[in-house]
Amino acid sequence: MSTSSKQTVMVVEDEEAFIDALVVGLQREGFAVEVARDGAEALSNFDKFNPDIVLLDVMLPKVSGTDVCREIRKKSQVPIIMVSAKGTEIDTVVGLEVGADDYIVKPYRIRELVARVRAALRRSSGSGSEVFDSSTSVSVGDITINTEQHLVTVRGQLTKLPLKEFELLYVLMANAGRVMTRDTLIDRVWGSDYYGDTKTLDVHIKRLRSKVEVAPSSPTSILTIRGLGYKFEKSS
Ligand code: CA
Repeated sequence: MSTSSKQTVMVVEDEEAFIDALVVGLQREGFAVEVARDGAEALSNFDKFNPDIVLLDVMLPKVSGTDVCREIRKKSQVPIIMVSAKGTEIDTVVGLEVGADDYIVKPYRIRELVARVRAALRRSSGSGSEVFDSSTSVSVGDITINTEQHLVTVRGQLTKLPLKEFELLYVLMANAGRVMTRDTLIDRVWGSDYYGDTKTLDVHIKRLRSKVEVAPSSPTSILTIRGLGYKFEKSS
């Protein structure tokens, strides 16, 4: 990525008041800004805009933000920050499930948004390489994770995980038997400059459990250590 050229933010938003504030605020911070005013426009212009990051409103005319996210993910690992009108858990879970990297709730301060954008861009340019050690395969119980091939096998079944879930599972498994504090996990997976809601960690844990646990509601592999964090159980 050239440092001299501006990074492009694609703003997908239908409310003019938000669009104006975002365009002005992001341009002032040195970003180039492209605007799509509905979901269909976002998808048809994605290749042309070729954004470095996408700010994606959840409630959009024509094609919803979550569907746009899903479509973009089929062809691109560009960082996506979902913007939702309400901080409901549903929005959060759905947003992260469809492959978004982060989410922010309206109304937000432009300064916070810019910090999130910069953090997401930094994480994506590091391509997660700090997360993985040189070892490429870790097995604990009936779960195997292979960082070289980006594969997870759960009880003999190949399981596909989005990048952040994959990295989180790797960090937990590579430290099986050890309690990992919330801060450590957020540091390792999202970076020490992560400004996001710490609920993001819990949402990812929940998603992981639904994929690796026999009974996600009474987990035996990914344990909650109350007041501290999480632990991947060694003997499971
Ligand atoms: Ca909207």
